[in-house]
Amino acid sequence: MKVQLNHSEKLSVAGRLAAGVAHEIRNPVTVLSGYLQLMKNGRMNPDVIPVMLDEVNRINSIINEFLLLSKPDKPANEKHDVALILGEVISFLKAEAEEAGIRVSVSTDGRLGSIRCSKDQLKQVFINVMKNAMEAMPGGGPIDIELRRDGRELLIRFLDAGEGIAGKDMERLGEPFYTTKENGTGLGLMICQSIISHHQGNLVLYGRPEKGTCVEIRLPL
Ligand code: ADP
Ligand code: MG
Repeated sequence: MKVQLNHSEKLSVAGRLAAGVAHEIRNPVTVLSGYLQLMKNGRMNPDVIPVMLDEVNRINSIINEFLLLSKPDKPANEKHDVALILGEVISFLKAEAEEAGIRVSVSTDGRLGSIRCSKDQLKQVFINVMKNAMEAMPGGGPIDIELRRDGRELLIRFLDAGEGIAGKDMERLGEPFYTTKENGTGLGLMICQSIISHHQGNLVLYGRPEKGTCVEIRLPL
């Protein structure tokens, strides 16, 4: 099973996002304003405070994903070594991975060179992909990263041994706000897809034959 995150561009990414954000934020805001109304009338049950906090956190994570997306950044102006960028992301996630019993390994053929890219944006992609892999293995497990040259492209693969992706979910991946997680935003893959296509690259998800998922990214060298 393989899916290419290439959705119709009929409705622009910005348009889809705006519609999605409005929709996603409206629910928690409605809940919050209902509780605040009760509080104002002195009829507030303290039990709802954790619920209110959850709703605020939900709004917060939606906004955080968007800040990263809209961060002004000139893509592809400078050359960077992707292995180094990946190394920075791995050290950034190291403590969290260790805590979760995740073992990260990288194999590279060592003749990669650098590519024109936005360092911050690629970091964002690697973080999102790694986090998804970690979240797919709640009991821990391996993330194997392969980095090599394939003709005129740089090929980066993230292989996890997690729960994999059900066929019915495959079709919807990359759709804004599509998530199978209780606390997911469903924005990560869409953001990755948008950054990688900005770099004239390509991002694909495969179900692995044995177990887990492979995320494959190709970037022009
Ligand atoms: P979120 O992580 O907030 O759910 P994403 O856009 O990052 O949003 O991912 C969308 C969905 O894609 C996830 O909810 C999950 O169902 C699926 N997914 C992404 N990466 C993986 C993976 N490595 N293994 C299993 N499922 C994945
Ligand atoms: Mg995610």
